[in-house]
Amino acid sequence: MVYTHDVKKAAEILSGSRFAIALTGAGISADSGIPTFRGRDGLWQGYRPEDLATPEAFRRDPVKVWRWYLWRLELISSAKPNDGHKALAALEKLGVLKCVVTQNVDCLHQLAGSRCVIELHGNIRRARCDNCGYKDDVSRILGDIPPHCPRCNHIMRPDVVWFGELIPDDIWEKTVELFTRSDVVLVVGTSSTVMPAAMLPVMSKEKGARIIEVNVESSALTYITDIFIRGRASVVLPAILREVENMIRR
Ligand code: NAD
Repeated sequence: MVYTHDVKKAAEILSGSRFAIALTGAGISADSGIPTFRGRDGLWQGYRPEDLATPEAFRRDPVKVWRWYLWRLELISSAKPNDGHKALAALEKLGVLKCVVTQNVDCLHQLAGSRCVIELHGNIRRARCDNCGYKDDVSRILGDIPPHCPRCNHIMRPDVVWFGELIPDDIWEKTVELFTRSDVVLVVGTSSTVMPAAMLPVMSKEKGARIIEVNVESSALTYITDIFIRGRASVVLPAILREVENMIRR
């Protein structure tokens, strides 16, 4: 394998870490059949996600935005965690990884068995009412499109963070604490173009953390990485896990 040396190095750094965390993006779920936003297959009926995942788009045409989310939800509901998600869960079980912070809304980390998961951008399986704060599973409130709140009859929205919106304070504070505390950050399958998530590893790096990146191509963050491993998350992460297991056994 071309990257054997880097996989070993990454495993060494992770095994010797005090507080390692992972930051994941759409790329880790690509091998579960969920399209990323930047890939060509991220388009829906010719629309770019950036034109649909905004508060303005929802105000303009809530039916169109809900249809797009229901299409994505259908894809996500039939998807299963892949070996990349499973490897991160196994690294947590070994005590090597302390938490996964994900930009994904697909719940695949939790389904793979990860226990500490922070969802920066919400969860596509939930809907919420911005009028009274009611939240529920999309499957339970879906009748008409757009669905209406069973409590106050206001129009409901997907419980996700859209482009131009802020990450909820409590989640952001917890996330900043993790990235400030971490000595190793494993960045997987993100283009690192969506703010503020993209600045989190930079924050850790400035505090002296080492950054390991796994991606099929270089990202906006690659320039700060200590180790960049080019490859699919579902292949590279299990390889790192195997090395870590070997090191622990020794
Ligand atoms: P992105 O689409 O901008 O970038 C995806 C990245 O993954 C790219 O850098 C690409 O090179 C890499 N990649 C593709 N296949 C890969 C593989 N098999 N292994 C490793 N890397 C691979 O996604 P992003 O950076 O997460 O940011 C965009 C937004 O997309 C986020 O806010 C997220 O909420 C949303 N999103 C989530 C999902 C999901 O929940 N599964 C899917 C699409 C988009």
